[in-house]
Amino acid sequence: MNSHSGHPIIPLPINPKSLGKVDILAPVTYQGEGFIGLQDLPRLHDECSKTQPTDGFHCAIQSHYEGEKPVMEISLQGRMHLSCQRCLQPLLFELAQKKRFVFVKTEEEADEFPLDNEDEEAMVASHSFDLLEAIEDEILLAIPYAPKHPTGECQLSHEEGGSDRQNPFKVLKSLKK
Ligand SMILES: [Zn+2]
Repeated sequence: MNSHSGHPIIPLPINPKSLGKVDILAPVTYQGEGFIGLQDLPRLHDECSKTQPTDGFHCAIQSHYEGEKPVMEISLQGRMHLSCQRCLQPLLFELAQKKRFVFVKTEEEADEFPLDNEDEEAMVASHSFDLLEAIEDEILLAIPYAPKHPTGECQLSHEEGGSDRQNPFKVLKSLKK
């Protein structure tokens, strides 16, 4: 009748209050699923060119212990609007990402942790871990450094006609008019 790990399952509500302070070291298994709107992700909100009610990230969380180490499996899926660095118009950014947080005891241990793949990250465990901030960090890292529309969809590409003939300074001038 016991669960696989022997730890009781605790629901983890997907909201800032609950995610902002998670007791990683508790001998429990966390499970949660829900939607995080951009209003709860202030650093991401700053990157938005516009916001629509459907913008935000669906988040599924499941934790377990691997030996002594708490592990959190996080699945993120969602969208937001960045701005194109070429035409400055909104650009839809979509994300579907899985991440594994492996919790260790100290910063040193985290630095030395052998990572098998990019989806895995070592974090320092605490009794009040800010999981919301860690999730926001992951999404920020996934955002392209200089997002641009694909050629053909960009407002500027038809003016450029696919060639480099147009002077980039002229383009800037025409944008300012
Ligand atoms: Zn563009």
